[in-house]
Amino acid sequence: MTRLAIGGLVHETVTFLPDETGLEAFERGAVRGEGIAAAYTGTNTVYGGFLKTCQENDVAIEGLLCAECAPSGPVAGPALQALADEIVSRATLWRDSADGLLLHLHGAMASRGDPDPERTLLLRLRQVLGENFPIAVAMDLHGNVGIDKAMLADIVCGFRHSPHTDMAETGERTARLLLRKLAGEIKPVMALARPGLVLPSIFTATDVSPLHEIMQEVNAAAKQPGILDVTLFTGFAYADVPEIGATVLAVADGDEGLAIRTAERLSARLLEAREALYNAAPLYEPHDALDKATTLLAEGIRPVVLLEHADRGNDSTHLLQALLERGMGRAAVPYLHDPIAAQAAASAGVGSQLMTALGGKSSELAGGPVLFTGIVKFAGPLRYRISGPYRTGEEIDLGPAAVIDSGAIAVIVTTKSITAVDTDPFTQCGLDINEFDIIALRSKTHFRAAYEPIAGAILIVETPDWGPADLFGLPYRNVPPGIYPITMAPPDDGKVDGLDDDG
Ligand SMILES: [Zn+2]
Repeated sequence: MTRLAIGGLVHETVTFLPDETGLEAFERGAVRGEGIAAAYTGTNTVYGGFLKTCQENDVAIEGLLCAECAPSGPVAGPALQALADEIVSRATLWRDSADGLLLHLHGAMASRGDPDPERTLLLRLRQVLGENFPIAVAMDLHGNVGIDKAMLADIVCGFRHSPHTDMAETGERTARLLLRKLAGEIKPVMALARPGLVLPSIFTATDVSPLHEIMQEVNAAAKQPGILDVTLFTGFAYADVPEIGATVLAVADGDEGLAIRTAERLSARLLEAREALYNAAPLYEPHDALDKATTLLAEGIRPVVLLEHADRGNDSTHLLQALLERGMGRAAVPYLHDPIAAQAAASAGVGSQLMTALGGKSSELAGGPVLFTGIVKFAGPLRYRISGPYRTGEEIDLGPAAVIDSGAIAVIVTTKSITAVDTDPFTQCGLDINEFDIIALRSKTHFRAAYEPIAGAILIVETPDWGPADLFGLPYRNVPPGIYPITMAPPDDGKVDGLDDDG
């Protein structure tokens, strides 16, 4: 009987954020050993996909460690060490009885001491498992995937949708390829091409033109004879690392030339579309967005979804401040990270009035706390399984949370930092989503799966925060020359060359 080890270490690291991400953030949702099947079977997650394919093919599994937390600041060195050590030592334990390893990595993890800890982890795994031990990795579409990291694996597959509604599907693709390799049916060879650009996350929605059309070409290329899989990684713009940038990765069956040609063709396609990719949707300053929302609401178009997309700490107050200044019908702010306010609301109890300095504490760009007065409408621990199309079925535990309602604005404050991407915050806190004219989210693309069908309009709000569409204001220090638009715009022929020595 075939036996596969399953593990993962997943984090999308915003290197600019001042607070490091510690072990505790990963341990909150970490699962180990037999716990992995119990936690993820039937969920729309990469592990859910791994497990489904293993089940369907009568493959035994050995769970290593699956650790993950929401995007945040650089992973602290000791946390990284502990998590990587555990994965490596558990893998060592199963080395002789497992036939292969299914691993889930994000692709954009970073720490202050190591700009590519995923590569380091893969190197360590290669050292203990050996050159020929089959390793297949499933990654996020937002990965910064350089050749040194990718080539440590035998197979790399990534999400093709953002919102990532295809997490389980990607896990299944990855696992199926590994099993076919083990059965001797295929000889996967990989090639990658990098166009020398990085996309701000807000422009990575795969149903929005022109990325939509390019993704259709990726999907078509993946069905070519001789090609086993193709992924277009958009890169992650908020990790200031040498490997920043988009990647097209093709897996072919034994034909390296075909893999190279496929990756290069799609990479050139991406580069050619760069300007259109950067103008995929209009951006609004907060008050301009509220002007536009006022017009839309007057026309009966509701709810208007406002995206404070540049917020990477889930607590920015730029938009909340503007809403408070303006008075805009009935507005909801689901999931504002503020453990102190959540605790204060819990202590005060449902029905009490509370005046609190809300949010804006995660960095100096978060807008600062705003004074907010309201009635506590809900207070209690929030723990539930996600009902929306993104990460369906996965259990999340937000700890104590509360609804503080000023009458005009209802804010859901949480103890754990999380981005609201579906309508669960409303149902879980006893709010009727239909009651709201304005819904202020902090998502980039994932909200689209749940909100596009119900939103009257979606407006993207650009705020002076750590995840803006305009990358020029960010203090990059580690990006090499030739990454559009940060260090240079590639010349018209699309070839990145002729770099100045002084960068
Ligand atoms: Zn992603």
